[in-house]
Amino acid sequence: MPISVLDELYAGKAKTLYRTDDSDLLLMRFRNDTSAFDGEKIEQLERKGMVNNKFNAHIMQVLQAAGVETHFVSLESDYDSVVRSMEMIPVECVVRNFAAGSLCRRLGTEEGIAISPPIFEFFLKNDALHDPMINDSHIISFGWASSEEIATMKATTLKCNEILTALFQDAGLLLVDYKLEFGRYQGRLILGDEFSPDGCRLWDAVTREKLDKDRFRQGLGGVVEAYEEVAKRLGISL
Ligand code: UDP
Repeated sequence: MPISVLDELYAGKAKTLYRTDDSDLLLMRFRNDTSAFDGEKIEQLERKGMVNNKFNAHIMQVLQAAGVETHFVSLESDYDSVVRSMEMIPVECVVRNFAAGSLCRRLGTEEGIAISPPIFEFFLKNDALHDPMINDSHIISFGWASSEEIATMKATTLKCNEILTALFQDAGLLLVDYKLEFGRYQGRLILGDEFSPDGCRLWDAVTREKLDKDRFRQGLGGVVEAYEEVAKRLGISL
């Protein structure tokens, strides 16, 4: 039975969440809006919402099949998915396999250096403060999550790294880094938000061509075409 969509609950920079007639479920709409630099650069990119919606559905299903519990329920239409309603933890979990982005800016590390073992970092979700890096101590002392929840976020994010690094490697891609977010659902912490080229870095394994949102951040062009190339290599039908 198709779900009935009610009012808007929350609009982020690239997705909008709507309440539905089932209080346990939300509709997550992937918009074409593309933003960078904490919302300073915003553009509409034709088809991006549709590509990310289908990309995310595929990745969430791969993760669920490998035993990672996620909020994803079903693909509803080109731009919409149904997800479970959760209480989000206001932190971003980042794992890095190769040096890029803010790590290079912060530590002066050369872009592209392999990182072993992968680095795990927490950032506070706060655009006004430019998502500052935080540690376990900040999270516990300010009550954003418990130590058990921190342990779950780290373990699950690193488990996803093993699953996804192998998945992308088989498609001729390097998973450079990515960001995950978690939420509370029926007393458990489960994976929320999305996994798409908006929130990760993917390079061609041979040429190291960038096939992710860095194309938008750096004004390289061909942003959605790159996302579609990655989707094609993963066998996702768009
Ligand atoms: N990321 C994200 N949302 C954010 C910050 C980072 O999805 O608000 C992703 C980003 O796309 C990259 C990874 O997390 O894949 C690490 O980002 P980084 O800390 O290098 O920050 P950036 O250089 O993107 O500002």
